[in-house]
Amino acid sequence: MESKELKAPEINLTNQNPEPKMKIDDQQNTKILATVGPASSSYETLVELVKAGVDVFRLNFSHGTHEDHMQVINHVTYINEKFGLHIGILADLQGPKLRVGEIENNALEIKEGDILTFVNEKCVGNMEKIYMSYEQFAEDVEVGERVLVDDGKLVFEIVETNKKDVVKLKVLFGGVLSSRKGVNLPNTKISLPSLTEKDLKDLDFILTQPVNWIALSFVRSPEDLHDLRRRLDEANHPAKIMAKIEKPEAIDRIDAIIQASNAVMVARGDLGIEVPMERLPMIQKNIIAKCIQRARPVVVATQMMDSMIQNPSPTRAEITDVANAVFDGADAVMLSGETSVGKHPIKVVEAMNRIIAEVEKTYDPPVRPIPPEKSRTYLSDAICFTAARTAEEVGAKAIVGMTSSGYTAFKVSSFRPRKQQVFIFSDRMHMLATLNLVWGVRCFYYDRFTSTDETINDVNAILKAAGKIEKDDVLINTGSMPIHKRHRTNMLRVTVVE
Ligand code: PEP
Repeated sequence: MESKELKAPEINLTNQNPEPKMKIDDQQNTKILATVGPASSSYETLVELVKAGVDVFRLNFSHGTHEDHMQVINHVTYINEKFGLHIGILADLQGPKLRVGEIENNALEIKEGDILTFVNEKCVGNMEKIYMSYEQFAEDVEVGERVLVDDGKLVFEIVETNKKDVVKLKVLFGGVLSSRKGVNLPNTKISLPSLTEKDLKDLDFILTQPVNWIALSFVRSPEDLHDLRRRLDEANHPAKIMAKIEKPEAIDRIDAIIQASNAVMVARGDLGIEVPMERLPMIQKNIIAKCIQRARPVVVATQMMDSMIQNPSPTRAEITDVANAVFDGADAVMLSGETSVGKHPIKVVEAMNRIIAEVEKTYDPPVRPIPPEKSRTYLSDAICFTAARTAEEVGAKAIVGMTSSGYTAFKVSSFRPRKQQVFIFSDRMHMLATLNLVWGVRCFYYDRFTSTDETINDVNAILKAAGKIEKDDVLINTGSMPIHKRHRTNMLRVTVVE
């Protein structure tokens, strides 16, 4: 559908009600990101999911229409307005996902040793020829490269290419091939752009909507992210960019990609096919550690509670998988099919929340990153770092920060203060929902920036009225002086609540 026809829902940007009207007992630091689909897109289910612990909803643009997504966005906007919450929205672009075309009778039995022919002209697939949705396929592949289909269940090897439009493949591992199954080419340098025609149409729509995060799939280089950022800037859209790490090329340039992104997703579905599977655990751990070091929120995604698509409780291995992501310090853990098409969307979020809550009781935070002295942002980084360290030393109840760009929230959170809550105030409603993804951060609206003293008194009073702090609690307030200049955080105050 044409994006022009769609209108962004009206949001009341002057909503000053900081106190959640919905009682949600969700004190966990590690956030839950849940994918919306037919099993969860109704208003009632979205409310139940929020009550169960969802912090951010993911719209997967590989599925659904723009109208479907817009309805969910409207529901979430309404939930935020009605209950005084800041639930975030992530729009996940499909990227250059490769697929085979339609298959005759939706099932083609193939055996080891069979030779298949992939062509770039649309046709109904059979043993003669199969359509592949990637025009430069014949041009880009080399003899000997592997082709993995249907999450790696079928394995082929390229035996011939005419470098134009026909590729012959030998079946190494057979099975049943059905229509539109995904294709991974772990050894091939794919020449497709990271934003496909479909992505650009989806982006036109997304840029009319109040989404907080846009995920770019199959990122291969920092330039992919720069390209998306340029488009956001041109549209003057405040969404931040999440890089999905699912290609070996992204692992090779991971530092530059983290630097060019605002957040990162360890997209284990495709990544686990594209790299040797035994490398996945260390890659996941390394990416989490690097992201914490650079204050980029990091999400662990895919098959975390996969068995709950069908079953009412997770496997032991899944419980441990979620727990390990929490131990490693991930900002968020993600549910995909479990909440989009699964039988138990609410139960799975409740189960995930229980695991997080239990693990966080004994959570040992990862090594705290020391701000690098040469960095451009060293002065405010040092204040945020000192805020976390001082909070621990004086046994503070919370760290309270102010932000416009989100920087202070990302930074304070990256020091993973274990025993303090992180309360962040901003006059940008959109930013508050963006920060809902970030480890430990709880957001509040505040727009009266008269003087530093007054602001600190105000925000502390808001927290007290919301029951978050009480008399005699010690707080670490951060802010910037002079307040009206809106500089980066440059001030720290230890306050005893009156
Ligand atoms: C993944 O591959 O793990 C992933 C999250 O991406 P998608 O669900 O878009 O395939």
